[in-house]
Amino acid sequence: MRLKAVLLVSIFLLFAAPLYCAYVMLDTNTVKEGGVVKVKIGSKIPVKASEVEFMNKKYPVFFRRYDPVSREYGYISVVPVPLDAVGRKKMQIRYLPQKGSSVEKTEYINIRPLRSEESLIQTGGKVFTLGKYLKEENILIAKSQEEITPVKYDFPFLRPVPGRLSSPFGKKRVYDDGSVGWRHKGMDLASPIGTEIKAANTGTVALAEDMKAHGNTVVINHGGGVYSLYQHMQEIYVKKGIVVKKGDIIGTVGSTGISTGPHLHWQINVFKEPVNPGDFMTEF
Ligand SMILES: [Zn+2]
Repeated sequence: MRLKAVLLVSIFLLFAAPLYCAYVMLDTNTVKEGGVVKVKIGSKIPVKASEVEFMNKKYPVFFRRYDPVSREYGYISVVPVPLDAVGRKKMQIRYLPQKGSSVEKTEYINIRPLRSEESLIQTGGKVFTLGKYLKEENILIAKSQEEITPVKYDFPFLRPVPGRLSSPFGKKRVYDDGSVGWRHKGMDLASPIGTEIKAANTGTVALAEDMKAHGNTVVINHGGGVYSLYQHMQEIYVKKGIVVKKGDIIGTVGSTGISTGPHLHWQINVFKEPVNPGDFMTEF
């Protein structure tokens, strides 16, 4: 009798356990300042509510896809690590499966400094004449990133133009007008004027505007709080509201606005936090 009960319970567990089983996976536990940590939740049953808490901020987790092969629901959260963050930080991942009780998992993230030397930027007076437009333009650019929509991207992101990395992400900058202290929020890719610029990933154009300081600017909303920015463009081929696919041509390289030569300033923001585009170039 007793043996029968044990057997029944074992059989029940064998079949029931995989059904309710969910897991959390991080792409890394060691990241450089200004990078991102990608968090994946996989579950045999849908997950109702989930969030990631990191450095006193809460980030939503987004549905990504259902995999018919593994019969698994996949969820993702791309969590930004601010520039100038250092040390060991706690990350808490919480989720509530459709059946069962909520689960909390704790991970520790080691943040390492980004090696970056200072560079003097000679703008030939452009900061004096055009710098006054920066504030209002930055407000417009920030406003274009308020919508948080379902995930449209997949990894890896595309490098939008070929060419030399003329200024890396996070580089400390000193301008010839004497302004100091801020760090490069994107990466500069030097390419000849007229080089076609590809959309780094699928998304909706959130802003396409001729700006005085940032030059011709495009912002794409990839969903899940991830936006990509393209600045100092020569020509813009897209309009606000249109959907672009990964690799679609959105315009050409230029040197418009406060720029010292033909290049694309390419930036990725996650919940408005500028992060290293280099962290988006691999599969996950
Ligand atoms: Zn730049």
